[in-house]
Amino acid sequence: MCGIVGYTGPRQASRILVEGLKRLEYRGYDSAGVAVQDHGALAVIKKKGKIAELRAAVPRDMPGTCGIGHTRWATHGGVTDANAHPHLDASGKVAIVHNGIIENYGALKEKLEKDGVRFSSETDSEVIAQLIARLYEGDLERAVKSALRHLKGTYGIAVIHADEPGRIVGARNGSPLVIGVGDGEMLLASDVTAMLAHTRQVVYLNDGEVVSMTPADFRVSDADDNPVDPKINEIAWQLDAIEKDGFSCYMEKEIFEQPESIARAFGGRLEPEYGTAKLGGLNLSRKELHAVERVRVIAAGTSWHAGLVGSWLLESVTRIPASAELASELRYRNPVVEANSLYIAASQSGETADTLYAMREIKRRGGTVLGICNVVGSTIARESDGGIYVHSGPEIAVASTKAFTSQLVAFYLLTLTLARMHDMSHHEGILFMEALKSVPEAVRKTLLLRDRIQTIAKKYARFRDFMFLGRGILHPIALEGALKLKEISYIHAEGYASGEIKHGPIALVSPEAPSVFLVPGDQLREKTISNMKEIKARGGPIIAVADEGDAEVVSIADDCIPVPKVDPRFQPFTMVVPLQLFAYFTALELGRDVDQPRNLAKSVTVE
Ligand code: GLU
Repeated sequence: MCGIVGYTGPRQASRILVEGLKRLEYRGYDSAGVAVQDHGALAVIKKKGKIAELRAAVPRDMPGTCGIGHTRWATHGGVTDANAHPHLDASGKVAIVHNGIIENYGALKEKLEKDGVRFSSETDSEVIAQLIARLYEGDLERAVKSALRHLKGTYGIAVIHADEPGRIVGARNGSPLVIGVGDGEMLLASDVTAMLAHTRQVVYLNDGEVVSMTPADFRVSDADDNPVDPKINEIAWQLDAIEKDGFSCYMEKEIFEQPESIARAFGGRLEPEYGTAKLGGLNLSRKELHAVERVRVIAAGTSWHAGLVGSWLLESVTRIPASAELASELRYRNPVVEANSLYIAASQSGETADTLYAMREIKRRGGTVLGICNVVGSTIARESDGGIYVHSGPEIAVASTKAFTSQLVAFYLLTLTLARMHDMSHHEGILFMEALKSVPEAVRKTLLLRDRIQTIAKKYARFRDFMFLGRGILHPIALEGALKLKEISYIHAEGYASGEIKHGPIALVSPEAPSVFLVPGDQLREKTISNMKEIKARGGPIIAVADEGDAEVVSIADDCIPVPKVDPRFQPFTMVVPLQLFAYFTALELGRDVDQPRNLAKSVTVE
């Protein structure tokens, strides 16, 4: 789930490992550690808590030029120093770091313990180290491959052995691993951000592959030892894209980047001449696209909300039935995969386990799946039949903001493409395109409301329960607003369709439970105003987000956030930004760790 870094080369390993782990901090973790080879022995330092604590414990002059590091997000065993990775085998010769879950560790551990092996942690991961040590006969790569045959579950691992100086062996099955090819040095990481400071040449490992590397060389092979031809990719991201740029935290920076990231998502993809979009990566012919009879989005969390907006828009504009489903539900409900259905797997990281497994299930049944991902080369991007990269740049804060609005853009582009194949005229296509092109400016103006939103957030920060209410295409935005507040401020918040409140949630309304209303600019405005009055009549405080100049809403709400007026179909963009800022300023007011909220991880690579 969390972070792996490995380094072998001429430089001091501990420094590079700790810096690499620091870059992976954003993924959320609870402990960290490093293991470094030195003169035929392994030195391990690991600590629960933040990287700063690990850094303080690692001697400045720690010797050794080959090692592995890890940030752990505990799944098996409490958050303790002993359970932190790296894990050594009983003899201290083998060190491993592991992301993922070993499902059959209980049986393996029992067997090893019967044979007299003593374990020193409660983790599932430690069995990997013990198993490799048992099977080791002078060749680490071979021992790792033999051990993998016994493991069930998901893993990205990095392994070193005291007797094989300069060698790191890595393997993946369901948890990402990337090789960084440097000049006389080699890196291994779960995420390219950990190695960007050292190299831009990377090779993505596929499930079932193993890499063995030394400073001068690396070899990739599959489990049966067949060599795999590695494809070297060049990373385009600049290192400063993962710096804070003067903002107090990554989430704030990412919220304010949205005018640019939204523009980047549609940049070069609009064809004014034909009033349509050009999506090069779909890998579907016009004929195949034309034959699509149903669109089904599979996703989790914030990406699911983007999928709900996308499917609402797609169906209403293209008249092709569309829906969005939680990936974790779809996978286990024995879904019917119809011919001529187009599936879309949406995931910022492209590594979300629930979405990936649901996608594989659909593909196994003969379905066509497109990916909507941010991280280039990620597993979903590689295994899907085609897709749309959203190009929002690295998103570091755990709570997604700019990747969400860029995912929305991808759905709007797909909608335009499909609509223009059916009922949408050239003229309507141009209008849709113009409306999309005006979004970055509308978002820029919305961001100017930061001070007003901060004042409102301060006023309400001590309330413990919120309702977020929206209708139509704004219903998923209400869900997203509630999720953002929960994620980073730990305040209880529920998202509802405004028409639904009188069917139950209205029982919660009281002066202690504010409601955040998203006021649509279309025919649902009147209905929403009635819903606001129902809340007001029962003494519930109201915060409204509405088009600027809506005097009626201002007169009903206790506080109003007036956003630039846009085509109602494009309101998700102008309405979500104030909710992101509201959550951010509330969390700030409460002194929360905005970028790394408790219990959450950036890329959820376990089911
Ligand atoms: N399952 C392992 C543990 O709990 C690894 C968790 C992770 O991916 O960080 O230690």
